[in-house]
Amino acid sequence: MNNISNNRISIIDGHNDYLSWCIENNITSSKHFLSATDPHSFSYPNLTLAGLISGFFALWTMKEWCTGVKQQLPHGFTISLSKSIDRDIASKEVNTQYSLLIDIIKSSNNKVSLVRNINDLMLCLTGDRLGVILHMEGAEPLCPRLTDLSDWYNKGLRSLGLTWARANAFGNGAPYFMPGDPDQGAGLTDNGINLVKACNALGILVDVAHLNGKGFWDVYHASSKPFVSTHTGCHKICPSSRNLTDEQILAIKDKEGLIGITFSVTELRRDGLSIKQTPPDILIEHILHVCSVAGIEYVAFGSDYCGGTLPSELEHVLNIRILHRKLLEAGLTTLDLEHLCYKNWLRVLKKVWL
Ligand SMILES: [Zn+2]
Repeated sequence: MNNISNNRISIIDGHNDYLSWCIENNITSSKHFLSATDPHSFSYPNLTLAGLISGFFALWTMKEWCTGVKQQLPHGFTISLSKSIDRDIASKEVNTQYSLLIDIIKSSNNKVSLVRNINDLMLCLTGDRLGVILHMEGAEPLCPRLTDLSDWYNKGLRSLGLTWARANAFGNGAPYFMPGDPDQGAGLTDNGINLVKACNALGILVDVAHLNGKGFWDVYHASSKPFVSTHTGCHKICPSSRNLTDEQILAIKDKEGLIGITFSVTELRRDGLSIKQTPPDILIEHILHVCSVAGIEYVAFGSDYCGGTLPSELEHVLNIRILHRKLLEAGLTTLDLEHLCYKNWLRVLKKVWL
């Protein structure tokens, strides 16, 4: 057994859908997260055992509203964008998820806390506290005139994905075309440009995961701060319209952001199929690809736990240690691993948060 598996390496993970997963599965009690009755569950005890010191917890309007239609093609498939959602419905759903999160934090006896600034995150690095970085996946709940953005900032919002795979008042998501170019549909609206600038001014990280190609370049030109893709794959390996081309990877590097590599096989496999029995080695390929295009300083984990189709070997959070061993075998050094696991996130968040 490699000694890395016994030594905890701190991890900041770029994306999970735990909160919406709970609501979808009628889990309304904080006990599910705070106690480890199931050794495989996505829970505080298992996350800390796996070395996670912090993660981006998404507020997301849920699966019930995933209305994209899949069409099989001779050499791939397309999934159209889901229908847009009314702001009131989106607000109600994410507020239910937010209430669960606050209940978890209040019931945790200071073991779980909301990360509001870089000092909060540093405390998580040195103790046994799990830091929740509050993320919104799709800006549907926000007022297009942004009158409620500072309220959300005060509630703890520190990261915002402009769209999911649908259109909203701010921009257009990328549909799932496989194979497909990210350049599908129009770019950000004026409200979307204003939102990027307002996030820069407030200290909210801008996330382009799920955004289409034109929207991506609008963010690149509008943002004065580093921006990221919290959970994505490399288009060169998996040519999904949802993945980043090498040109986009270099643009994120140019802005001093980072790319969180998803564990979800639909953005990793060359055929984009949702097959759990996919070896985790494909994830290593994507990480190494970002390293070769941009460098180790620009890649991180963005697991998509509780949301994506993860390789069965990685479904349980404790197995994240498999990746450490595989990455060392692939030639990364321990220092490289530290960059990938948490140092890159610290660098970006220090520049973005005020
Ligand atoms: Zn997502």
